Amino acid sequence: MSTHLKRILITGGAGFLGSHLCQRMVDAGHDVICLDNFFTSQKSNIVHLLDRPNFELVRHDVTQPFMAEVDEIYNLACPASPVHYQYNAIKTVKTSVMGAINMLGLAKRTKAKIFQASTSEVYGDPEIHPQPESYRGSVNPIGLRACYDEGKRCAETLFFDYHRQNGVNIRVVRIFNTYGPHMHPYDGRVVSNFIIQAISGQDITIYGDGSQTRSFCYVDDLINGFIKLMDAPDDVTGPVNIGNPGEFTIKQLAEMVIEMTGSKSKLIYKPLPKDDPTQRKPDITIAQDKLGWEPKIPLAEGLAKTIEYFKSINLADYRKPTDHQVQ
Ligand code: NAD
Ligand code: UDP
Repeated sequence: MSTHLKRILITGGAGFLGSHLCQRMVDAGHDVICLDNFFTSQKSNIVHLLDRPNFELVRHDVTQPFMAEVDEIYNLACPASPVHYQYNAIKTVKTSVMGAINMLGLAKRTKAKIFQASTSEVYGDPEIHPQPESYRGSVNPIGLRACYDEGKRCAETLFFDYHRQNGVNIRVVRIFNTYGPHMHPYDGRVVSNFIIQAISGQDITIYGDGSQTRSFCYVDDLINGFIKLMDAPDDVTGPVNIGNPGEFTIKQLAEMVIEMTGSKSKLIYKPLPKDDPTQRKPDITIAQDKLGWEPKIPLAEGLAKTIEYFKSINLADYRKPTDHQVQ
């Protein structure tokens, strides 16, 4: 085996983003350990990898310590959709904070390079637009989204303290809304909701008046950014925004999905969830300058691939992670 092949631990590896990362790393020949507690995912996302000799699946919760000898860790374990991360808010904080402590401890002992999947939610409901990494955010620390936002902010703090105090080699990426195949059909995020509603003839649920904006990145672009950050020189710790600066209102997204699916679904309006950010768009100057990264796949192209994926799966094979509703 050549020396560039690595032992890579991917927490949350069965989830939407994790399963794409596992695929890329297994295909590159690395030895991959996929660790997941299957809270918001199912084995179906990685079942096709189970007979590959360089892929190993471990059912484990990151709030508990984990021992393995590894060269790189990608820490993705955490529910990402507001409906599911608000279902058990205390567990969400534990997953982010205790998960980070456990994985950073593992990185310190094994001298592994460690990557943290942070989020644009660290910016909260931002007062500046677009958001550069230097912006410190506007987060409600006691609101319904705080378990996720503050959990991820504390995880960033831990990453930088382990880096300063223990010399751990860290990479922190702030991910903006990403979509694509392998999203759970009952994930509850806007792209999966709208596509499932459109292809099954249900009303499309717009929260608020649909004027809030998001910037949507196709998953393949995002994973390229992850790998570029992990392979960058050691002084490129991040945080680095990775996302697509194309900005759309939620109403525009609904109209695109209806047009692309040829659906007869109607738009219906529901109350805006509490603390729902009104606008979000990444400033990707650092990713462009330090990583030579920028997204390549426009929304219409990525949506077409995602619609095709959701049409190809059997919804009866999926269990709702929780019955929680946004408030
Ligand atoms: P996802 O819900 O599909 O995947 C998360 C995975 O983590 C799931 O497989 C879940 O079962 C697992 N998990 C949750 N809690 C765990 C625990 N305590 N122990 C072990 N495994 C656990 O979500 P995703 O979109 O793939 O997100 C992956 C990561 O990226 C998350 O950390 C999320 O916060 C971050 N992120 C994603 C987005 C996005 O738009 N997709 C945006 C910002 C940040
Ligand atoms: N949203 C919506 N209808 C849905 C799901 C979400 O209008 O069925 C809105 C939500 O209120 C938010 C945006 O779409 O303004 C993105 O929501 P998502 O849960 O995907 O992620 P967020 O960026 O809020 O974490």
